[in-house]
Amino acid sequence: MKKIGITTTVPVEVLLAAGYQPIDLNNVLVSAPDPTRFITIAERAGFPLNCCAWIKGIYGVCLDSGIDDVLCVTSGDCSNTIMLMEVLKLKGKTAMPFAYPERPDKAQMQKTLEKLSSALGTTLKAAEKIRQELQSARAFALKLDKYTWKDNKVSGWENHIWLISTSDFNGDYHQYQQELQSLLDDYEKRQPYPAKEIRVGYIGVPSVFAKELYPYIEKHGARVVYNEVQRQFAMPDAGASLAEQYTNYTYPYSINERLADIKTELEKRRIDGVIHYVQAFCHRGIGDIVMRSAIDPPVLTLEGNADFFLNGHVKTRIEAFLDMIERKIFFKGVK
Ligand code: SF4
Repeated sequence: MKKIGITTTVPVEVLLAAGYQPIDLNNVLVSAPDPTRFITIAERAGFPLNCCAWIKGIYGVCLDSGIDDVLCVTSGDCSNTIMLMEVLKLKGKTAMPFAYPERPDKAQMQKTLEKLSSALGTTLKAAEKIRQELQSARAFALKLDKYTWKDNKVSGWENHIWLISTSDFNGDYHQYQQELQSLLDDYEKRQPYPAKEIRVGYIGVPSVFAKELYPYIEKHGARVVYNEVQRQFAMPDAGASLAEQYTNYTYPYSINERLADIKTELEKRRIDGVIHYVQAFCHRGIGDIVMRSAIDPPVLTLEGNADFFLNGHVKTRIEAFLDMIERKIFFKGVK
């Protein structure tokens, strides 16, 4: 299969039906031993210092990994991707645009999927067949999510990594499914986390320092039991067709669609406090104003740039936030 890079979650079923192996460039970036190397590649090529690290990292990965085809999401994710696409073309890559409809509208999504299928030389019918094949892998990811918040047997990091990987199923959905299935058997046998722990919700784009963030939270008597965007990548509301699936997927649309999902999950998962992650130089950071005004539990806004570790300042803020929640719970006597 020929590799195709993706800049965020896309209708992966269409890519697979067209004979491509999707590679989520974000996941390649953060799982690299030295992600800053990719940022340097972009800055040396002329990307501004005040450009988001994800965009620069994606560029670096594309150039370094030899991936020639890239599907760039130009609407429903990041406006910077429009210029990224132009630079990739300049460097000889085949960069194709993909735009989510402006609103979650099934008819518009149907047309969008048909257009993508035809551009990649496949059909929507073939992509629907792949959708059926992916159902078990998606079901396992959502089962792991349930083990996280309901059975309390899965860590925030495990939840993050398996859900986020549904954007490209680590390049091999058969293997993803097999590995997760066997892990779920192990998770089921685990003892649950203590009932007294603080339950944290994580909203916003995945963080650059995820590897350190989740264990650090757990070290301080809390656990992330809700990863908003990562869970959306797994398509929790799959509907009856691809068009419905990607209409119900909340991330590409307005903040109100996201908030409806977030509020439902915060209540269902009995969340004590929310971490809203924003990326430096990202337009989504402005959405923090809306998020804070609409969410009931206390919110800690964390910003990351190109630092792939937790610095002292961020650590202190997390500790103070968890301490505040603990006192709040103690005074209420609810746990
Ligand atoms: S974090 Fe924001 S600026 Fe960076 S790629 Fe994502 S949407 Fe774009």
